[in-house]
Amino acid sequence: MVAELLDGKRVAAEILEGLRRRIACLPHPPCIAFLRIGENAASRFYVGRKVAVAKDLGIRSIVEVFPEQVAEKTILEQLSRWNSDGEIDGILVQAPLPSREFQRSAFAAVDPAKDVDGFHPYNFGLLAQERPGGFIPCTPKGILRLLEAYAIPTDGRHAVIVGRSLIVGRPLSLLLQSHGANATVTVCHSRSQQLRSIVRSADILISAAGQPNLILEDMVAEGTTVVDVGQNSVPDETFPGGHRLCGDVDFPALRHRCSHLTPVPGGVGPMTVAMLMENAVEAVERKFPGNRRNDPPIEQKCFPS
Ligand code: NDP
Repeated sequence: MVAELLDGKRVAAEILEGLRRRIACLPHPPCIAFLRIGENAASRFYVGRKVAVAKDLGIRSIVEVFPEQVAEKTILEQLSRWNSDGEIDGILVQAPLPSREFQRSAFAAVDPAKDVDGFHPYNFGLLAQERPGGFIPCTPKGILRLLEAYAIPTDGRHAVIVGRSLIVGRPLSLLLQSHGANATVTVCHSRSQQLRSIVRSADILISAAGQPNLILEDMVAEGTTVVDVGQNSVPDETFPGGHRLCGDVDFPALRHRCSHLTPVPGGVGPMTVAMLMENAVEAVERKFPGNRRNDPPIEQKCFPS
Protein backbone atom coordinates (compact mmCIF):
# COMPACT_ATOMS: atom_id res chain seq x y z
CA MET A 1 0.00 0.00 0.00
CA VAL A 2 1.24 3.47 -0.85
CA ALA A 3 -0.63 6.32 0.82
CA GLU A 4 -2.36 8.94 -1.26
CA LEU A 5 -0.91 12.30 -0.31
CA LEU A 6 -3.37 14.91 0.93
CA ASP A 7 -2.13 17.85 -1.07
CA GLY A 8 -2.94 20.86 1.09
CA LYS A 9 -1.14 23.17 -1.29
CA ARG A 10 -3.46 22.24 -4.16
CA VAL A 11 -6.66 22.34 -2.11
CA ALA A 12 -5.66 25.65 -0.52
CA ALA A 13 -4.96 27.14 -3.96
CA GLU A 14 -8.49 26.22 -5.08
CA ILE A 15 -9.96 27.79 -1.95
CA LEU A 16 -7.95 30.98 -2.50
CA GLU A 17 -9.25 31.20 -6.08
CA GLY A 18 -12.81 31.03 -4.71
CA LEU A 19 -11.94 33.77 -2.23
CA ARG A 20 -10.74 36.04 -5.02
CA ARG A 21 -14.25 35.90 -6.48
CA ARG A 22 -15.82 36.60 -3.10
CA ILE A 23 -13.49 39.55 -2.47
CA ALA A 24 -14.40 41.02 -5.87
CA CYS A 25 -18.04 41.27 -4.69
CA LEU A 26 -17.18 43.22 -1.53
CA PRO A 27 -17.22 47.01 -1.19
CA HIS A 28 -13.61 46.79 0.02
CA PRO A 29 -11.09 43.98 0.50
CA PRO A 30 -10.49 42.80 4.07
CA CYS A 31 -7.77 44.27 6.24
CA ILE A 32 -6.05 42.04 8.81
CA ALA A 33 -3.95 43.38 11.69
CA PHE A 34 -1.20 41.01 12.86
CA LEU A 35 0.42 41.27 16.27
CA ARG A 36 3.66 39.44 16.91
CA ILE A 37 5.79 39.38 20.04
CA GLY A 38 9.52 38.60 20.06
CA GLU A 39 11.70 37.20 17.32
CA ASN A 40 10.72 33.53 17.46
CA ALA A 41 11.72 32.20 14.02
CA ALA A 42 8.54 30.16 13.57
CA SER A 43 6.29 33.11 14.47
CA ARG A 44 8.15 35.34 12.03
CA PHE A 45 7.78 32.75 9.32
CA TYR A 46 4.06 32.20 9.97
CA VAL A 47 3.19 35.90 9.96
CA GLY A 48 5.36 36.48 6.87
CA ARG A 49 3.60 33.66 5.01
CA LYS A 50 0.13 34.90 5.97
CA VAL A 51 0.96 38.46 4.91
CA ALA A 52 2.34 37.24 1.56
CA VAL A 53 -0.78 35.18 0.78
CA ALA A 54 -3.00 38.07 1.88
CA LYS A 55 -1.14 40.45 -0.42
CA ASP A 56 -1.57 38.11 -3.35
CA LEU A 57 -5.35 38.13 -2.75
CA GLY A 58 -5.48 41.90 -2.39
CA ILE A 59 -6.11 41.63 1.37
CA ARG A 60 -4.47 44.46 3.30
CA SER A 61 -2.19 43.65 6.26
CA ILE A 62 -0.90 45.69 9.17
CA VAL A 63 1.90 44.13 11.22
CA GLU A 64 2.96 45.32 14.68
CA VAL A 65 5.94 43.65 16.33
CA PHE A 66 6.68 44.04 20.05
CA PRO A 67 9.78 42.99 22.01
CA GLU A 68 9.67 39.82 24.13
CA GLN A 69 9.60 41.88 27.37
CA VAL A 70 6.58 43.95 26.36
CA ALA A 71 4.08 44.69 29.13
CA GLU A 72 0.72 42.97 28.84
CA LYS A 73 -0.95 46.38 29.22
CA THR A 74 0.74 47.61 26.02
CA ILE A 75 -0.60 44.66 24.06
CA LEU A 76 -4.11 45.06 25.45
CA GLU A 77 -4.07 48.76 24.53
CA GLN A 78 -2.95 47.98 20.99
CA LEU A 79 -5.72 45.40 20.61
CA SER A 80 -8.26 47.86 21.97
CA ARG A 81 -7.20 50.45 19.36
CA TRP A 82 -7.57 47.88 16.59
CA ASN A 83 -10.96 46.78 17.96
CA SER A 84 -12.33 50.29 17.55
CA ASP A 85 -10.63 50.95 14.19
CA GLY A 86 -13.34 50.65 11.52
CA GLU A 87 -10.73 50.01 8.81
CA ILE A 88 -9.59 46.76 10.43
CA ASP A 89 -11.74 43.69 9.78
CA GLY A 90 -9.64 40.95 11.35
CA ILE A 91 -7.09 40.75 14.17
CA LEU A 92 -4.56 37.97 14.65
CA VAL A 93 -2.33 37.58 17.69
CA GLN A 94 0.43 35.19 16.60
CA ALA A 95 1.04 32.40 19.14
CA PRO A 96 3.07 31.58 21.12
CA LEU A 97 3.07 34.55 23.51
CA PRO A 98 5.52 34.89 26.41
CA SER A 99 3.25 32.95 28.81
CA ARG A 100 0.06 30.94 28.66
CA GLU A 101 -1.72 33.52 30.85
CA PHE A 102 -0.55 36.37 28.62
CA GLN A 103 -1.81 34.47 25.59
CA ARG A 104 -5.21 33.90 27.20
CA SER A 105 -5.60 37.62 28.03
CA ALA A 106 -4.57 38.70 24.54
CA PHE A 107 -6.95 36.28 22.84
CA ALA A 108 -9.80 37.45 25.08
CA ALA A 109 -9.05 41.12 24.31
CA VAL A 110 -9.80 40.78 20.59
CA ASP A 111 -13.27 41.88 19.50
CA PRO A 112 -15.05 38.55 18.75
CA ALA A 113 -16.36 40.03 15.48
CA LYS A 114 -12.72 40.55 14.34
CA ASP A 115 -11.36 37.35 15.87
CA VAL A 116 -10.41 35.67 12.59
CA ASP A 117 -8.28 33.10 14.45
CA GLY A 118 -11.30 32.00 16.50
CA PHE A 119 -9.54 31.89 19.87
CA HIS A 120 -11.76 34.33 21.79
CA PRO A 121 -13.75 32.53 24.51
CA TYR A 122 -16.99 33.70 22.88
CA ASN A 123 -16.10 32.11 19.53
CA PHE A 124 -14.80 29.01 21.29
CA GLY A 125 -18.11 28.82 23.16
CA LEU A 126 -20.07 29.00 19.91
CA LEU A 127 -17.94 26.18 18.53
CA ALA A 128 -18.44 24.08 21.68
CA GLN A 129 -22.20 24.64 21.48
CA GLU A 130 -22.30 23.99 17.71
CA ARG A 131 -23.73 27.44 17.05
CA PRO A 132 -22.95 29.24 13.78
CA GLY A 133 -21.94 32.88 13.54
CA GLY A 134 -18.50 32.65 15.16
CA PHE A 135 -15.06 32.00 13.73
CA ILE A 136 -13.58 28.51 13.73
CA PRO A 137 -9.82 28.26 14.42
CA CYS A 138 -7.94 28.00 11.14
CA THR A 139 -5.89 24.81 11.52
CA PRO A 140 -8.79 22.59 12.70
CA LYS A 141 -11.08 24.09 10.07
CA GLY A 142 -8.43 23.51 7.41
CA ILE A 143 -8.01 19.88 8.46
CA LEU A 144 -11.74 19.24 8.07
CA ARG A 145 -11.73 20.91 4.68
CA LEU A 146 -8.78 18.79 3.57
CA LEU A 147 -10.54 15.58 4.63
CA GLU A 148 -13.65 16.76 2.83
CA ALA A 149 -11.69 17.57 -0.35
CA TYR A 150 -10.47 13.96 -0.48
CA ALA A 151 -13.91 12.55 0.45
CA ILE A 152 -12.51 10.94 3.61
CA PRO A 153 -15.49 10.09 5.80
CA THR A 154 -15.46 10.98 9.49
CA ASP A 155 -18.94 9.77 10.38
CA GLY A 156 -18.78 7.07 13.06
CA ARG A 157 -15.01 6.68 12.69
CA HIS A 158 -12.46 6.82 15.48
CA ALA A 159 -10.41 10.01 15.27
CA VAL A 160 -7.38 10.13 17.56
CA ILE A 161 -5.85 13.56 18.13
CA VAL A 162 -2.40 13.81 19.71
CA GLY A 163 -2.23 17.26 21.33
CA ARG A 164 -4.77 19.23 23.36
CA SER A 165 -3.69 22.81 22.65
CA LEU A 166 -6.12 25.67 22.34
CA ILE A 167 -4.88 26.24 18.81
CA VAL A 168 -5.16 22.77 17.30
CA GLY A 169 -6.14 19.72 19.36
CA ARG A 170 -8.94 21.11 21.50
CA PRO A 171 -10.96 22.94 18.81
CA LEU A 172 -10.35 20.06 16.40
CA SER A 173 -11.84 17.63 18.90
CA LEU A 174 -14.97 19.82 19.07
CA LEU A 175 -15.29 20.02 15.30
CA LEU A 176 -14.78 16.30 14.74
CA GLN A 177 -17.35 15.32 17.37
CA SER A 178 -19.92 17.84 16.06
CA HIS A 179 -23.19 16.60 14.61
CA GLY A 180 -21.86 17.28 11.12
CA ALA A 181 -18.61 15.31 11.38
CA ASN A 182 -19.86 12.66 13.85
CA ALA A 183 -16.47 11.13 14.62
CA THR A 184 -15.74 9.34 17.88
CA VAL A 185 -12.87 11.38 19.24
CA THR A 186 -10.01 10.51 21.58
CA VAL A 187 -7.59 13.28 22.58
CA CYS A 188 -4.10 12.36 23.85
CA HIS A 189 -1.46 14.56 25.47
CA SER A 190 1.91 14.28 27.14
CA ARG A 191 0.45 12.56 30.21
CA SER A 192 -1.56 10.01 28.25
CA GLN A 193 -0.74 6.41 29.02
CA GLN A 194 -0.90 3.73 26.34
CA LEU A 195 -0.38 6.28 23.55
CA ARG A 196 0.77 3.50 21.26
CA SER A 197 -2.35 1.36 21.60
CA ILE A 198 -4.70 4.36 21.39
CA VAL A 199 -3.00 5.57 18.20
CA ARG A 200 -3.22 2.06 16.76
CA SER A 201 -6.99 2.09 17.20
CA ALA A 202 -7.42 5.21 15.07
CA ASP A 203 -9.19 5.30 11.74
CA ILE A 204 -8.05 8.90 11.43
CA LEU A 205 -4.95 10.05 13.29
CA ILE A 206 -4.12 13.72 13.69
CA SER A 207 -0.79 14.45 15.30
CA ALA A 208 -0.29 17.97 16.65
CA ALA A 209 2.36 17.43 19.30
CA GLY A 210 5.33 19.24 17.77
CA GLN A 211 7.59 16.20 18.33
CA PRO A 212 9.58 14.80 15.38
CA ASN A 213 9.26 11.03 14.97
CA LEU A 214 6.62 10.71 17.66
CA ILE A 215 4.44 8.55 15.41
CA LEU A 216 6.32 5.53 14.13
CA GLU A 217 5.32 2.89 11.63
CA ASP A 218 4.42 0.17 14.12
CA MET A 219 2.06 2.51 16.02
CA VAL A 220 -0.29 2.95 13.08
CA ALA A 221 -2.71 0.36 11.74
CA GLU A 222 -2.70 -0.28 8.01
CA GLY A 223 -5.15 1.89 6.09
CA THR A 224 -5.25 4.74 8.64
CA THR A 225 -5.64 8.32 7.43
CA VAL A 226 -2.82 10.33 8.98
CA VAL A 227 -2.84 14.12 9.24
CA ASP A 228 0.49 15.52 10.41
CA VAL A 229 0.12 19.01 11.87
CA GLY A 230 3.62 19.15 13.36
CA GLN A 231 6.05 21.73 12.00
CA ASN A 232 9.41 20.90 13.50
CA SER A 233 12.79 22.23 12.53
CA VAL A 234 15.48 19.53 12.77
CA PRO A 235 19.21 19.82 12.09
CA ASP A 236 20.15 18.57 8.61
CA GLU A 237 23.39 19.68 6.99
CA THR A 238 22.12 18.75 3.53
CA PHE A 239 19.55 21.60 3.70
CA PRO A 240 20.22 25.33 3.31
CA GLY A 241 20.69 26.82 6.76
CA GLY A 242 21.48 23.39 8.22
CA HIS A 243 17.85 22.70 9.16
CA ARG A 244 14.88 21.05 7.56
CA LEU A 245 11.17 21.11 8.34
CA CYS A 246 9.47 17.89 9.36
CA GLY A 247 6.26 16.80 10.98
CA ASP A 248 5.54 14.48 13.91
CA VAL A 249 5.32 11.29 11.91
CA ASP A 250 7.96 9.09 10.34
CA PHE A 251 6.85 10.06 6.85
CA PRO A 252 8.83 7.58 4.67
CA ALA A 253 7.78 4.60 6.81
CA LEU A 254 4.13 5.63 7.13
CA ARG A 255 3.87 6.28 3.42
CA HIS A 256 3.72 2.51 2.98
CA ARG A 257 1.25 1.90 5.76
CA CYS A 258 -1.55 4.46 5.67
CA SER A 259 -4.28 5.09 3.15
CA HIS A 260 -3.82 8.88 3.17
CA LEU A 261 -1.06 11.06 4.54
CA THR A 262 -0.30 14.78 4.64
CA PRO A 263 3.18 15.90 3.64
CA VAL A 264 5.15 18.44 5.69
CA PRO A 265 5.49 21.00 4.24
CA GLY A 266 2.54 21.23 1.83
CA GLY A 267 -0.20 19.57 3.89
CA VAL A 268 -1.91 21.31 6.79
CA GLY A 269 0.17 24.53 6.66
CA PRO A 270 -1.30 25.98 3.44
CA MET A 271 -4.80 25.00 4.59
CA THR A 272 -4.32 26.99 7.81
CA VAL A 273 -3.36 30.09 5.85
CA ALA A 274 -6.26 29.66 3.41
CA MET A 275 -8.71 29.36 6.31
CA LEU A 276 -7.40 32.58 7.81
CA MET A 277 -8.08 34.34 4.53
CA GLU A 278 -11.53 32.78 4.40
CA ASN A 279 -12.33 33.96 7.93
CA ALA A 280 -11.19 37.47 7.02
CA VAL A 281 -13.45 37.50 3.95
CA GLU A 282 -16.28 36.17 6.10
CA ALA A 283 -15.71 39.03 8.59
CA VAL A 284 -16.33 41.61 5.85
CA GLU A 285 -19.26 39.68 4.37
CA ARG A 286 -20.96 39.77 7.75
CA LYS A 287 -20.79 43.57 7.61
CA PHE A 288 -22.22 43.58 4.09
CA PRO A 289 -24.54 40.56 3.91
CA GLY A 290 -25.96 41.74 0.56
CA ASN A 291 -22.51 41.26 -1.00
CA ARG A 292 -22.11 37.67 0.15
CA ARG A 293 -21.18 35.27 -2.62
CA ASN A 294 -20.06 32.06 -1.03
CA ASP A 295 -20.52 28.37 -0.53
CA PRO A 296 -22.16 27.35 2.72
CA PRO A 297 -19.61 27.96 5.47
CA ILE A 298 -18.20 24.85 7.12
CA GLU A 299 -20.12 25.50 10.33
CA GLN A 300 -23.36 24.95 8.42
CA LYS A 301 -22.09 21.48 7.60
CA CYS A 302 -20.72 20.81 11.06
CA PHE A 303 -23.62 22.29 12.99
CA PRO A 304 -26.69 21.26 10.99
CA SER A 305 -29.92 22.66 12.40
P1 NDP B 1 1.58 23.00 21.89
O1 NDP B 1 2.99 22.83 22.36
O2 NDP B 1 0.75 24.10 22.41
O3 NDP B 1 0.80 21.64 22.17
C1 NDP B 1 1.38 20.39 21.93
C2 NDP B 1 0.44 19.33 22.46
O4 NDP B 1 1.03 18.06 22.21
C3 NDP B 1 0.21 19.41 23.97
O5 NDP B 1 -1.13 19.11 24.26
C4 NDP B 1 1.15 18.34 24.53
O6 NDP B 1 0.68 17.76 25.73
C5 NDP B 1 1.12 17.32 23.41
N1 NDP B 1 2.34 16.51 23.41
C6 NDP B 1 3.61 16.96 23.36
N2 NDP B 1 4.47 15.91 23.38
C7 NDP B 1 3.70 14.80 23.43
C8 NDP B 1 4.00 13.41 23.49
N3 NDP B 1 5.26 12.96 23.50
N4 NDP B 1 2.98 12.54 23.56
C9 NDP B 1 1.70 12.98 23.55
N5 NDP B 1 1.36 14.29 23.49
C10 NDP B 1 2.35 15.17 23.44
O7 NDP B 1 1.69 23.04 20.32
P2 NDP B 1 0.64 23.55 19.20
O8 NDP B 1 -0.66 22.84 19.35
O9 NDP B 1 0.65 25.01 19.11
O10 NDP B 1 1.39 23.00 17.91
C11 NDP B 1 1.67 21.63 17.75
C12 NDP B 1 2.52 21.43 16.50
O11 NDP B 1 1.74 21.83 15.38
C13 NDP B 1 3.79 22.28 16.42
O12 NDP B 1 4.77 21.56 15.73
C14 NDP B 1 3.37 23.50 15.63
O13 NDP B 1 4.45 24.12 14.98
C15 NDP B 1 2.43 22.85 14.66
N6 NDP B 1 1.43 23.76 14.12
C16 NDP B 1 1.23 23.68 12.77
C17 NDP B 1 0.27 24.45 12.19
C18 NDP B 1 0.07 24.32 10.73
O14 NDP B 1 -0.63 25.13 10.15
N7 NDP B 1 0.62 23.28 10.10
C19 NDP B 1 -0.55 25.39 12.94
C20 NDP B 1 -0.33 25.34 14.37
C21 NDP B 1 0.64 24.54 14.92
P3 NDP B 1 0.48 18.63 27.10
O15 NDP B 1 -0.78 19.41 26.90
O16 NDP B 1 0.35 17.59 28.14
O17 NDP B 1 1.69 19.49 27.22
